This record gives sequence, structure tokens and C-alpha cells, in this order.
Amino acid sequence: MKKLYLLLALSCCALYGVTAGEFVPDSQATSQDPEKIIERSLSYAKSHDTFVNVLFAEHEGEFVRLVKEGQTPKTLFIGCSDSRVTPEFITAAKPGDLFVVRNAGNFVPVYDQNIAWDGIAASIEYAVKVLGVQDVIVCGHSHCGAIQALFYDKNEMQSQLPLCSKWLQFGDVAKRLTLVSLGDAPKADRYAAAERLSVVVQLEHLLTFPFVKQAVADKKLFLHGWHFDIEKGQITYYNPKTYQFLPLRDLLK
Ligand SMILES: [Zn+2]
Repeated sequence: MKKLYLLLALSCCALYGVTAGEFVPDSQATSQDPEKIIERSLSYAKSHDTFVNVLFAEHEGEFVRLVKEGQTPKTLFIGCSDSRVTPEFITAAKPGDLFVVRNAGNFVPVYDQNIAWDGIAASIEYAVKVLGVQDVIVCGHSHCGAIQALFYDKNEMQSQLPLCSKWLQFGDVAKRLTLVSLGDAPKADRYAAAERLSVVVQLEHLLTFPFVKQAVADKKLFLHGWHFDIEKGQITYYNPKTYQFLPLRDLLK
């Protein structure tokens, strides 16, 4: 395996005209069948071909400009990993518009500088401190599996999905608030409420980041809570004056 990595390093380096140096990673067993990988890549090749011929052709100038000038997105979008909630698609955003972070449940972990592996926190830090985004949008959605999982049996979750189970701690407050306000309401109502309450809770979690809190206090950063209704294709936004989620498009009226 070491030999394989060395070969890979050498071919990459030859391609880019750099010296290989001492690139000898630790041995690593792999059970992947290379033929299968190539076979499975075919469908991606087809869709990428469509991208190159249609979308890239349409936006090529934009991509070239973004490379020349660098990215300056004004928005950090924190959304769910759910495949039906595509940030650029639902906001009709162009390349360079959104700095996107997605995870199961669109949760924001509470600030903890001792957790060095937290990619969500690192992305928030980079977006706010380096890119200087002006808006952070936390976008929840209907039929969110992570939100529904908040109400599943904790022990079962822990044994079946231990990693998810731990991650769901960031939805605990939303779950508690939902149960207090809705009690034994039908599941669908509980989920719908928790999806929205969680968005507001995640905005609170964002404020536990000292640099976010400071930027918000300085009125350089604005935190937005959204909810996307998949089957209706509608976004509602959290209005901090009325504490309600209202149709985003109503702002156009
Ligand atoms: Zn989700």
C-alpha cells in the first residue's frame, strides 16, 4: 500500500511539476474494488457532463471572475444535509453567493474551543472572521429526520446510531420546548413545531461564539432563522418582532 501511495504522490507531483519529497503515508488497507469505483462513477460522469455543457457554459465568466478576485460571499448558510434541501437551489443563488455548511439537523454546536475537530465551528469561525459574512441563515425544513429522531427512544438511538445520538444533543432544548408547549399533540404537529423551535435555538447557539456575539453587537452580522417547506417550496423566516415564522415572499408585498 505504501508503494501505491508513493506512486500516486509521484504521478500527482509529476502532473503539477513539483518534487515528491517524503510523502510516505501510513499503510492503510482498502477493500474497495477499483473496477466497481470506475463503474459507479459513470452516472456522475453523465451528470457532470450536463453541468459542463449547460450550467458551467452559462456561468463560466462568473467562475473565472471568482478565481481572479477570490470569494466574497455575504452569507453563511447553515442547512440540513437532507438531499431535498439544496441551499443554492432554493435561494436561486449563483456561484460565490453562499458559504455553505450542512449537517444532519442544521444544528449549531455550542461554542467549545477545546473541540478541535468540530468542522461546523471551524467553518463558522472562517466565515465570520476571514470572509466577513454579513448574514448567517440557519435553515430548518419540513420532514427533517434529525428533528424526528429527537423524539425517538434515547437508548435505542444510542445503540443503533451512537454518533447521531450524540449529535442530537444540540436539538435537546428544542425538543423540551416542544413537549412543554404541545405535550401529547399528534406527531406531525410536534415535528413541525420542533423544526422551527430548533432553528431559533440554533441562533442562540451561534451567539455562544464570542466573535459572533461581538459582530452582532457591532451590527456587522445579522442572524436569520428560516424554515423550508419541501412540498410547498416555500421559505418562512423567523420574525424576531412577532416571534413568528412568516412567508419570506410576503416581504415583497
Ligand atoms: Zn433535516
